[in-house]
Amino acid sequence: MKQEFESIPKFGFGCMRLPLLDPEDQTSIDIEQFKQMVDTFIDAGGTYFDTARVYHQGESERAVKEALVDRYPRNAYTVATKCLAWAIDSEEEAKGNLATSLEQLGLDYIDFYLLHNVGGNRTARFDEYGMWEFARQKKAEGLIKHIGFSMHDGAEALDGLLTAHPDMDFVQLQVNYLDWDDPVVEARNCMEVAARHGVPVVIMEPVRGGRLADLPERAAQILHEANPEASLASWAYRFCWHLPNVVSVLAGMSTLEQVRDNAASFKADKPFTEDEQAALDEAIAALKSVPTVPCTNCRYCVKECPQGVKIPEILSLLNLELMVEDHEFVKGLYSWQAAAGPASTCIACGACEQMCPQSIDIINQLEIAAEKYE
Ligand code: SF4
Ligand code: SF4
Repeated sequence: MKQEFESIPKFGFGCMRLPLLDPEDQTSIDIEQFKQMVDTFIDAGGTYFDTARVYHQGESERAVKEALVDRYPRNAYTVATKCLAWAIDSEEEAKGNLATSLEQLGLDYIDFYLLHNVGGNRTARFDEYGMWEFARQKKAEGLIKHIGFSMHDGAEALDGLLTAHPDMDFVQLQVNYLDWDDPVVEARNCMEVAARHGVPVVIMEPVRGGRLADLPERAAQILHEANPEASLASWAYRFCWHLPNVVSVLAGMSTLEQVRDNAASFKADKPFTEDEQAALDEAIAALKSVPTVPCTNCRYCVKECPQGVKIPEILSLLNLELMVEDHEFVKGLYSWQAAAGPASTCIACGACEQMCPQSIDIINQLEIAAEKYE
């Protein structure tokens, strides 16, 4: 990994869930609290801030300017921001995002610029708009220091993307201890693919949208007994902080209290002892001990489905709810992860079930998913 990446502290600040003055209004960021959060984070040694044009309906970048850029010297921090081309209607607008981000952030250059949420059928839009070439060009012009992409897809897709774009400086991946061996997310395999391509990783979702900070009792009890002082979140961060080839681990923080807690964990951070690793393994096993749908993500079913139903993704979400016991959280994920092929579009033709080596009652499971999440 490049030396300049190695010097970045692994504790990163995700600015997608900033504190609000009015919980109903995503644009009403509590700037005074955010300033204190920034100060606490920087005091703890943090430097990496991650935002995006779309966070807080465009206000996250402005808040980063006010709380960070206007108050700290340029060498005290790095800023990552992103372009969601797949959600934008025109090439011109997608390319115009960079200039808007620079202006909103009050910066002359972006340290880390990401093509955001590449993977699945979203990748085609980045290709169609020529966003890869655009990012390269802007890097050559000095408006971007490092170009990369974030991805929600499996290891094979990542391998294809890094082969097609070997000059990426970094990639941002969903990695956490629950998804490490998950057949759909494939966090471990994705980390191995990135390492094989020599591309360092920024980790997103280390606490799986907050679920690993609020575990079901069967897993929480094991971790609390192993270390009564440690917060549940700290186990999730420590797992990621000590993985190889990592630039930064993004903590999406919403309160000063969360920054203080994570900062304390970061300052006291050490690799897991053998006993701690054993406790974490036991907690993961406890989380996965509930009966789940035995889908291996082999994807034979997908090839046969005339409706393009996102079968393995939907089964994975059903399993996630069984493991973390949080219906609303999973329903939120379903709303975008299954949008391109929701369960209710199944016509019960049975082609998928004939192909499934696990003999999964797919049609029945899709009915359950449609009922729960649509
Ligand atoms: S039963 Fe439903 S999910 Fe399975 S192949 Fe037919 S339409 Fe697709
Ligand atoms: S064929 Fe069966 S095991 Fe394979 S991805 Fe589809 S549902 Fe999962």
